Amino acid sequence: MLNFEFRNPTKILFGKGQIANLPKEIPAGAKLLMLYGGGSIKQNGIYDQVKDALQGFTVLEFSGIPANPEYEVLLKALKVIKEEKIDFMLAVGGGSVIDGVKFLSSAALYEGDSPWDILSQRISTKKGLPFGTVLTLPATGSEMNSGAVISRKETQEKFSMGGPGLFPQFSILDPQVVASIPKRQLANGITDAFTHVLEQYMTYPAGAMLQDRIAESIMQTLIEVAPRIIRDPADYEAAANFMWSCTMALNGLIQKGVPTDWAIHAMGHELTAMFGIDHARTLAIIAPSHYRYNFNGKKEKLAQYAERVWNVTAMSLEEQATAGIKMTEEFFHSLDISTRLSEYTGSYEGTAQIISQRFTERGWNGLGERKALTPDDVEKIVEMSY
Ligand code: NAP
Ligand code: FE
Repeated sequence: MLNFEFRNPTKILFGKGQIANLPKEIPAGAKLLMLYGGGSIKQNGIYDQVKDALQGFTVLEFSGIPANPEYEVLLKALKVIKEEKIDFMLAVGGGSVIDGVKFLSSAALYEGDSPWDILSQRISTKKGLPFGTVLTLPATGSEMNSGAVISRKETQEKFSMGGPGLFPQFSILDPQVVASIPKRQLANGITDAFTHVLEQYMTYPAGAMLQDRIAESIMQTLIEVAPRIIRDPADYEAAANFMWSCTMALNGLIQKGVPTDWAIHAMGHELTAMFGIDHARTLAIIAPSHYRYNFNGKKEKLAQYAERVWNVTAMSLEEQATAGIKMTEEFFHSLDISTRLSEYTGSYEGTAQIISQRFTERGWNGLGERKALTPDDVEKIVEMSY
């Protein structure tokens, strides 16, 4: 096991009716900005629950944060924060709204020339404007981590950011919100959370026995609840386990003491930036090719995963590892998620070269747990995923 430090300060309020407890988590006298997305919260009753809970507070609103939160839209929110001297933000939404609020948390206190620096120069945020979240879509884990991903349409870029100052102060997780989520987003949520676990687990073996077992149990739970959630998102028990699995998949716990990969996300972000494909679906496109291309370096863990998570046994290590990749693909297909780029767009020719070129320009020369994947490797992996 590798050395590590672990700190996660986000307070979680989990369960039925927890939105009503919002007032005790928000500093008295705070001037609040509530931020949300395209309006789903007005249809499913979450908006009313939040507003009811916030009676007595001064609350301004900013709506319209789109999926894959847009830099240009966020700049408008930043203006409101500065002009109105907001001192606490409340994100009500999925990963996109929460990530957008994390960018704003950082940008509100940033003293450099342009807030774009935070993304283009990967500036780590030590201190941000405080915020809490009401999660409406289990998927990203953003409700209990300090990372965010922000897009910029005009340049077709999608960049990660983060830092110890960007953990939410609190996050409210009421699994009843899952009942109104469309099937497509449920499938996305399961796929994103599952791939988060894979990114932290599918490396060379690092002798982190407990982290491996926790990672495997999160994947097993997601596999178990997936058909129930897709059949009936109002199944509270399934929704609760789905929601907590997504949070546990990316709250820092399973990444401690292990080498992590994250190359699938790096390549996937480019596919969202270029074609607008849903984040989770880009991961399903890249993951199988990434594991086939890097088979030798990952085969021990692939075989362990096949055995412990999918109950595949009694073959050679190589056969077992190959079965692990196949089971992963079949799991995504069972959620109605395609694993080939050509099934999402007809204009995929040249994509691999463009992504490889972008990585070269940015100096991204060593991806993956060994920091050894070059832009040439990236080109081959993306090409394999057509
Ligand atoms: P999302 O983009 O936040 O939301 C997707 C859609 O679901 C939106 O149209 C939203 O509608 C709708 N929705 C949300 N909650 C709903 C509910 N309860 N009922 C009905 N519809 C609902 O999806 P996401 O998968 O959570 O976030 C994806 C983003 O997070 C991507 O940009 C990805 O790169 C990023 N990400 C971040 C992390 C991290 O650690 N920070 C990790 C992985 C991915 P409205 O707009 O109307 O609300
Ligand atoms: Fe993700």
